[in-house]
Amino acid sequence: MAEKKWVYLFEEVEQVQNYVCGEWENVRGLLGGKGANLAEMARLGIPVPPGFTVTTEACNAYLAGGGTLPDGMWEQEIAALHKIESATGKKFGDGKNPLLVSCRSGARYSMPGMMDTVLNIGLNDNTAKGMAALTGDERFAYDAYRRLIQMFGTVVMGVPDDVYEDVLTAARKKAGITTDSDLSAKHWRVITREFKDIYRHHTHHEFPTDPVEQLKLATEAVFKSWNGKRAIDYRKAAGIPHDLGTAVSIVTMVFGNMGADSATGVAMTRNGSNGEKQLEGDYLTNAQGEDVVAGIRLTKDLNELQAEMPAAYAEFEKIVQKLERHYREMQDVEFTIEQGKLWMLQTRDGKRTAQAAVRIAIDMAEEGLISQEEAVLRVSPEQVDFFMHPQFDLEATRNARNQGSLLASGLNVSPGAACGMVAFDADLAESWTKKNGKSVIMVRPETKPDDVHGMLAACGILTSRGGRTSHAALVARQFGKPAVVGVSSLNIDIGKRRMNVEETVVQEGEWISIDGTTGEVFLGQIATTVPDIKDPWLLKLLGWADKFRRLGVWANADYPRDAARAREYGAEGIGLCRTEHMFFEAERLPIVQKMIMSDRRLDQIEALDALLPFQREDFAGLFRAMDGLPVIIRLIDPPLHEFLPSHVNLLHDLADLKIRLKHAATLSDIDELLLEVQTKERILRRVESLQETNPMLGMRGVRLGIHIPELTTMQVRAIFEAACEVAKEGVDVHPEVMIPLTSHVNELEIQREILEGEARKVMDEKGMVIDYKFGTMIEIPRAALTADQIARQAEFFSFGTNDLTQTTFGISRDDAEAGFLIEYMERGILHDNPFATIDQDGVGALMAIAVQKGRSVKPDLECGICGEHGGDPKSIRVCHELGLTYVSCSPFRVPIARLAASHAALEAKRRKKGE
Ligand code: PEP
Ligand code: MG
Repeated sequence: MAEKKWVYLFEEVEQVQNYVCGEWENVRGLLGGKGANLAEMARLGIPVPPGFTVTTEACNAYLAGGGTLPDGMWEQEIAALHKIESATGKKFGDGKNPLLVSCRSGARYSMPGMMDTVLNIGLNDNTAKGMAALTGDERFAYDAYRRLIQMFGTVVMGVPDDVYEDVLTAARKKAGITTDSDLSAKHWRVITREFKDIYRHHTHHEFPTDPVEQLKLATEAVFKSWNGKRAIDYRKAAGIPHDLGTAVSIVTMVFGNMGADSATGVAMTRNGSNGEKQLEGDYLTNAQGEDVVAGIRLTKDLNELQAEMPAAYAEFEKIVQKLERHYREMQDVEFTIEQGKLWMLQTRDGKRTAQAAVRIAIDMAEEGLISQEEAVLRVSPEQVDFFMHPQFDLEATRNARNQGSLLASGLNVSPGAACGMVAFDADLAESWTKKNGKSVIMVRPETKPDDVHGMLAACGILTSRGGRTSHAALVARQFGKPAVVGVSSLNIDIGKRRMNVEETVVQEGEWISIDGTTGEVFLGQIATTVPDIKDPWLLKLLGWADKFRRLGVWANADYPRDAARAREYGAEGIGLCRTEHMFFEAERLPIVQKMIMSDRRLDQIEALDALLPFQREDFAGLFRAMDGLPVIIRLIDPPLHEFLPSHVNLLHDLADLKIRLKHAATLSDIDELLLEVQTKERILRRVESLQETNPMLGMRGVRLGIHIPELTTMQVRAIFEAACEVAKEGVDVHPEVMIPLTSHVNELEIQREILEGEARKVMDEKGMVIDYKFGTMIEIPRAALTADQIARQAEFFSFGTNDLTQTTFGISRDDAEAGFLIEYMERGILHDNPFATIDQDGVGALMAIAVQKGRSVKPDLECGICGEHGGDPKSIRVCHELGLTYVSCSPFRVPIARLAASHAALEAKRRKKGE
């Protein structure tokens, strides 16, 4: 049997494709994104330094074997190394013409900076001398050597990086210079010695001088970094599976620090913040790659490269355009120019903000690179959610500027507004947020992968250094955190836990506001507003999405202003108006309470009559806002005691009143207090008479309408009077009246009779005919199971999945999420929170039965959903598969639901085609 292949040279990409049956995704899976793309670039004839990749399978075998390299892997790695020796004419460990390599991690999904990389492997005292002689640049050779000792020490052996950085700072200070590039060969030789001492001191070993040992240890360190804390944290946050492993790419070193005709940089083919089609990047002349990414030195704009090295720039521009066309995606590249020769070191799909994702998808479709369907699929519903995030109120921002609260400005790398207390390290940011529930802005000179847990916890990120492609910018964009970076006027003193811009000092714990859209940083808190989704690219994308979806998207709205917003966001109807919400308004609650308190039918009817005009006005407003579209009005649902003061409060009030009565000084005070005590006692008695052990399973929903038919009559009258009123104004009105909590068809029959009678009466009085529907919520398992019987009485169903989840699981929707449900999810007993995402096997199965039984009686039965799940993308996919007519969700989630419904339809189509 042929030996298992663990290592592939870049030129062997076709062999890889054969091994994984041609799937590009699987090539990435085996070689990691970096290895796969390096090999693909080599295949496309793009200049890539010779190299090879050790597969993710090798990493997984190494980790599964408890840290033992799998059989044959190391021999294959050495054989591949010999191949690159032949390709370059250099030799590993050779004193005259040494080959140096980098050892880079690369997983299937990009995890920027989360795993380890070691550069300049192959240097030791002997090869460093050789490099110096070969290049005639001793300064360069020893700078490279000390970098290896530093990186190897930190990455492979866990030596703290600060100790090395302290040596550099001291050396610069002693030499009276500010940048590393001004340090001489002699300086670097001394620093190299000091670095070796640090290595020995911290590891109790000599720095390994054998290049082969360096390579082996570095390879293993990269494997191990897959299970490092920061990589695990990142995978958890990004939803990347933990069993993929990382590949290791070994690449011939090329040097951007070989003089004024050398450079190194990073670039994006489109703007990662706003999506504009323009090549953007940062670079440094005479520097090595990590200097750019770390944001330690102030980088230059890529445009300057055009003037500085025109030939290399022209070639670079052509290559990145070719890459973008080839991958049909915005690319994020790394390059090095070594003495005028351009080398591409990496290409990958660029990280981008939600705004940029939308614009790039639209532009690429319009440029003919991708189809409209692909454009729609490239933007996730979560990214649309970002458009719904708060931004600073314009007026408040203007005032803050006028009042001198603008502290500083930097790069606007990840949009959105955030206010929080300053925390200067990741652990504090995390604990303040998680333990104390504070809003935190994490402030750092620059961020490193170790800071990610703090960045995820914080509501915004601010750094004094770094550019658009810095770690802080990439991570913030990926996780939708507002971020401002590179605020050069900001001095951060971590030791003293404060920062200042000139005279203005901000201490840790003080409030600041950052605007990731404009790059501004303000003192104090600024009011935020919810943005309009007027972004023209988003509107276009949603317009395209609408063409592909089958599900309707409706909204839950109780008030005309919400309905108007929902409509503006694209809602095609109101799927749920919870009428009881209107009862809670200040001027109405006393009337509702009067109705509940009264023992006499007549008083009850009088209270209901008083409520009627309010309800009529509410409904008329909704109908006007939804002119031409359906409006589902649900009759009163909650238990009546919810409208009365709480039992505990009443007991407290009564105790208080009785004490005051005891100490009352005048007769009139006594009279007044006595009256109050009597009233409270009456209310208490009523509350006690309405009290139930399980109110959610008690006198609520349809049961109320059956118990107090006048309630149903009043609400139906209000609906139809409003409908007639607005119809007279010329509004095209489509009311649908919905009964909550039905469990038996007989309940519905009774309510239907009342409804039809009252509706007819109103229409006769007004001399008009209103086209309407009568239907029910399906939110009790019995209703789902007997949906064929129910469908005989109902013209539509709407799944109340909040209650249906509660009643199917038998867990309280009010308590479970604060209780055992969290533990269930943490322990994996439940994968998703069933109140957020439909439980497909249980609740979903009941819904399927209800749809099937309901439509067996009425094939065109309108079936929708109005529980919270209606705005959840995963649940929307379930609703699509169940063949529902529409999903109804909060107005703010309507755009998200439009895209999610479109994705559901497109994915189903792809599955059908077997793509
Ligand atoms: C539901 O139960 O899903 C529903 C929409 O009704 P409510 O949340 O008002 O009980
Ligand atoms: Mg309900």
